[in-house]
Amino acid sequence: MEDKYEIVIGLELHAQLNTKTKIFAADETTFGAAPNTQISPITVGLPGTLPRLNKEVVELAVKLGIALDCHINEVNFFDRKNYFYADLPKGYQISQDRQPICVGGFVEIVVNNEPKKIALSRIHMEEDAGKNNHELDPDFSLIDLNRAGVPLLEIVSEPDIRSSDEAYAYVTELRKLVRYLDVCDGNMEEGSMRCDANVSVRLKGETNYRNRVEVKNMNSIRNVKRAIDAEVKRQIEIYENGGTVDQETRSFDPVDASSFTLRSKENAHDYRYFPEPDLPPVVISSSIIEQIKSQMPQLPKALQMLFTQTYNLTAYDAQVLTDDKETADYFMAVIQYTSNYKAAANWINNDVKSLLNEINCSLKDFAVQAKQLAEIIQLLDDNIVSSSGAKTIFKAFADGNKSSAIAVAEALNLIQSSDKDELTKWIEAALAKYPDKVKEYKNGKKGNLNLFIGEVMKLSRGAADPKTTTQLIAQLLK
Ligand code: ADP
Ligand code: MG
Repeated sequence: MEDKYEIVIGLELHAQLNTKTKIFAADETTFGAAPNTQISPITVGLPGTLPRLNKEVVELAVKLGIALDCHINEVNFFDRKNYFYADLPKGYQISQDRQPICVGGFVEIVVNNEPKKIALSRIHMEEDAGKNNHELDPDFSLIDLNRAGVPLLEIVSEPDIRSSDEAYAYVTELRKLVRYLDVCDGNMEEGSMRCDANVSVRLKGETNYRNRVEVKNMNSIRNVKRAIDAEVKRQIEIYENGGTVDQETRSFDPVDASSFTLRSKENAHDYRYFPEPDLPPVVISSSIIEQIKSQMPQLPKALQMLFTQTYNLTAYDAQVLTDDKETADYFMAVIQYTSNYKAAANWINNDVKSLLNEINCSLKDFAVQAKQLAEIIQLLDDNIVSSSGAKTIFKAFADGNKSSAIAVAEALNLIQSSDKDELTKWIEAALAKYPDKVKEYKNGKKGNLNLFIGEVMKLSRGAADPKTTTQLIAQLLK
């Protein structure tokens, strides 16, 4: 049934900006502050107050716009979006309507190894609203206006997305990008990134879009996908039963992936947009745009290209390394000291990641310095320590040891011996311990070799070089 239909999705993503202060006032924006402690007269919209634009908001919007290949409107305007709700003290939201700061651009996603460009219609600047709380008090709804006036960028896609997997990839990609650019912390659980999904379905081959439903209140990327899946199913069922889908706004409930109507089309807001009279047009000089361009960090796409083409890493390794900027930066730092790129990628994507997970630490606070990791790689490449020795050194560094890898290797007796006389002594002792096994080996049970090597490792406390040991045992038992 479902493959009769084509899914059409457009996403509206709100990103709270990492600025210290609000978009039109000097109030701080710290998350989790005591309710109503970050509210100046401007934020609560007292008569006689005037908004003043925070320059940093414009710069962050331009930065994101450049990264997404948007056209930057060097002259753009704020508009008033009028509606009445308790968390909106002025009775209107200052937003951008007809002339937003960025238009066009795209987000490139990869689903099932297929790259696809999702076109953007616009990115605009606006202020966030406050927050209602209906749980704290049995009789009253409480309002916290700390969030009112926190700067937002709204990123609106064209209805180009064709599956919930594409939507998942799109939000993941955008979150990665806003984090790389240090524009927004991308935390959907805390609501600093929010996504509304506009969903419709139509018969395959149909050229017109059908009515869309906007689903809100998903607090994770996974829930964006679940909400879309549920909405698609709901709409297909309606059409299959001969009904029509009404244009409306629904709220998603993560408990059972259901949704309920928030506003029907009849009750849709009439926002009566008009130009914000209290703010002058935003004029962005080309020198500012150039300056922002020149300070742009390397973006994940460019880094992936560099890692696969210049450093010969697999696409998978490159992708994992560019998942976040800290990891990519760490890799770049390690390869300042080693040209074994593959080993550096392996260490970071495996040992480093799992240790960070285990000790619940971020790369920012990680004790192992890039140079130290490169030294471990060198000792391994030179066969000076075994791989288990390398892990011991790594652990010592992670515990805060500040010396060089070779010093740790010496102190902990991890230097492998390929000195034949010394090795032979260990081997003879090992073989003497297992005369029966030696007999078996000589009679063809070659698998016993591992037992002997293991014993040599034990006797040498890991100092024996496994390769030379193996060769010597085979020779001795010939
Ligand atoms: P409005 O101005 O009413 O908010 P927009 O044109 O800004 O409407 O569209 C809002 C979002 O809805 C955009 O992301 C757009 O891509 C998406 N959208 C528009 N029409 C459809 C449709 N028929 N099906 C799915 N998404 C749609
Ligand atoms: Mg819209």
